[in-house]
Amino acid sequence: MKLTVLGSGTYLPDPQRGAPGYLLQHGDTALLIDSGSGTLQRLGRAGVNPVDLDAMVYTHRHVDHCGDLAALVFHIQHYPSPARLRDLPIYAGLGFAEHLELLQQAFDGALEPAHFELVVHELSLDRPDQAVLPGRLTLDTAPANHAAGALHLRFTSTAGITVAFSGDTGPSEALEQLAAGADIFVCECGLPPHDDYPHHLNAKQVAQVVAAARPRRVVLTHLYPRHDPQADLDAVAATGVPTILASDGMELVASRPL
Ligand SMILES: [Zn+2]
Ligand SMILES: [Zn+2]
Repeated sequence: MKLTVLGSGTYLPDPQRGAPGYLLQHGDTALLIDSGSGTLQRLGRAGVNPVDLDAMVYTHRHVDHCGDLAALVFHIQHYPSPARLRDLPIYAGLGFAEHLELLQQAFDGALEPAHFELVVHELSLDRPDQAVLPGRLTLDTAPANHAAGALHLRFTSTAGITVAFSGDTGPSEALEQLAAGADIFVCECGLPPHDDYPHHLNAKQVAQVVAAARPRRVVLTHLYPRHDPQADLDAVAATGVPTILASDGMELVASRPL
C-alpha cells in the first residue's frame, strides 16, 4: 500500500502545510482519506484525477477535513471525458449522509451527480465497526474522542498490510487497539507539548499511544505552524518506534520484508 500525504497541516494558513488529506493506493485502487481545502489541487500534483477515485473516506466533518468535498464532487460530475459512470462510495461516521444532502441543497443541485451515485456508508459512532472497500481493503473503525461523527481508521489489505489513522482525537483507548502493530500509523500531534485540551493529542500523549500500540512506523501529522515539530518528533521517537514528521507530497510504501 502506498500512502501519499496531501496535507499535513490544519485549518491555519501555513506556507508549508495544507489542510488534511491523504491518498491511499493499493494495486489499482485509489482511496482519498479526508479532503481539506486544497486537496483537489494536491491530488492533481500526485497524478490522480478525482474522477478515478474508488472511494472517499472521512474521519469527521470539521471543515479542515472536508472543505474540498463540494469541489471534488463538482469536479467529478463535470469532468468531460471520460465521464464517471460508476458509483462513488463514501465511508464516514453516522451523520455524513445528512451532511452531504445539506451541502447538495446549499449548492442548489449543482452537486447532484447525473451519471453516477454518491453512496454513503455510515459507520457506527458507538462501537468498533467494519466495512469492505474497493480493492478488498478492510476498513476497521472506532469512535474517536473528538467532535461528533469522528472516527479512527485502519485499512488492511488481503496480505495483512495495515495503515492506521488517528483522525483528530484526544486520548483514546480505542486508538491503541486500532493502531496496534500497524505498518504505518498516521497520528495527529496537534497540541503544543504542555497543552492537554481533551480533543487533540500532544506529543507526550502520542508517545503513550505508540508505546502501547507498537506500530512499525509512525507519521506525525495535523501539525500547527505554532510550535516546534522537532521536539514532538523527538518525544515520540523516544519510544523506539521509527517516527517521522508528515510533509505535503510525502510518499510512503507499507510492505513487509519477504
Ligand atoms: Zn477536527
Ligand atoms: Zn483537524
